Amino acid sequence: MNNYFIILAAGKGRRFKQNKPKQFFNYNGKMLINHSIDKALESKLFKKIVIVASKKYKKYFKKYRKNKILIVNGGKERKDSSINALKRIKNFKPKYVLIHDAARPDFSIKLLRNLTNYVKKYKVVIPVISSNDSIKYKIKNKIFNLERDKSFLTQTPQAFSFKELYKLAIKQKKNITDEAALFINHNYKIKFISGENLNKKITYLDDIKTPKTYFGIGFDMHKLVKNKKLFLGGIKIPFHSGLKGHSDGDVILHAVIDSILGAVQKKDIGTYFPSNNKKFKSIRSPKMLKPILDNIRKENYYINNLDINLICENPKVSKYRKKIIGSLSKIIGLNNNKINLKGKTVEKLGLIGKEKAIACEVIVSLIKYD
Ligand code: ZN
Repeated sequence: MNNYFIILAAGKGRRFKQNKPKQFFNYNGKMLINHSIDKALESKLFKKIVIVASKKYKKYFKKYRKNKILIVNGGKERKDSSINALKRIKNFKPKYVLIHDAARPDFSIKLLRNLTNYVKKYKVVIPVISSNDSIKYKIKNKIFNLERDKSFLTQTPQAFSFKELYKLAIKQKKNITDEAALFINHNYKIKFISGENLNKKITYLDDIKTPKTYFGIGFDMHKLVKNKKLFLGGIKIPFHSGLKGHSDGDVILHAVIDSILGAVQKKDIGTYFPSNNKKFKSIRSPKMLKPILDNIRKENYYINNLDINLICENPKVSKYRKKIIGSLSKIIGLNNNKINLKGKTVEKLGLIGKEKAIACEVIVSLIKYD
């Protein structure tokens, strides 16, 4: 067994339209690229698995045992990434190498076995499937129909004799869509085997999953007392009194925290910041929100929008709305057009009406990609 498995994962996935490339998104319970790594490990067909990724995503692979996994920096184009990997393993004198796109998580271990078997005889083995959709092509502005029974689609992983692939790849100037193209361009004899219909390339977010939505509700109320600063939504608001509390008494942020905890079914703010714990005495509320946000992000939740009712006679919400929303937007990392703040008075009734207390209620919607 002198096989190496190269996974190309340096692509930026521009068509995917997210802040990180698709290969690092959760797909059916784990990171998209981990499906390929885990199957290659499980197959026990490979001496080493080579992951080609951009530097800043290397941290994602810490959990794997180092002696089986090599991580190589990606290049500018696909061909550069592939050459980086081939150069990196050259000294190990590999006999066969499989090259695979991280965006195809659903191949089977059986396919890996077929590829590693056939490549011993044929040097170049490419899995293909027939096209269900009709394909057209253009030559000099004329459109032609590709005959469906004479056309097929290539997939990865693709298997090669290392020597042949290295020789061609080093010479290759133009960027290629896959290594099969390299051999086709040089008129090599290629063994085509049956690919797998399930082994699709994930290109768009819709391919991965439809997000689930979760809602949470939060409420809070604090007494107003003299000689205290008033904090609302993380900023100081000039007022005759401030909100009494173990912390800075920021009713907006407390209600936001409870709404988020509600949406992710993680109890309430008092569970994480008990008021009898001296550690949290006079804590600023943005510091309470931060660890909650960090935790939900780890679980792939994203805040979709916030709707806030601030219930008080004074200060007037209309006067501070922009400032408070700006502050919330910064603290939460959510666009300010996703945050709505309403002011609600109570016709001078009760504690709130007499400016002795301020209350706040919040509804949050979260989305999660499973
Ligand atoms: Zn509170």
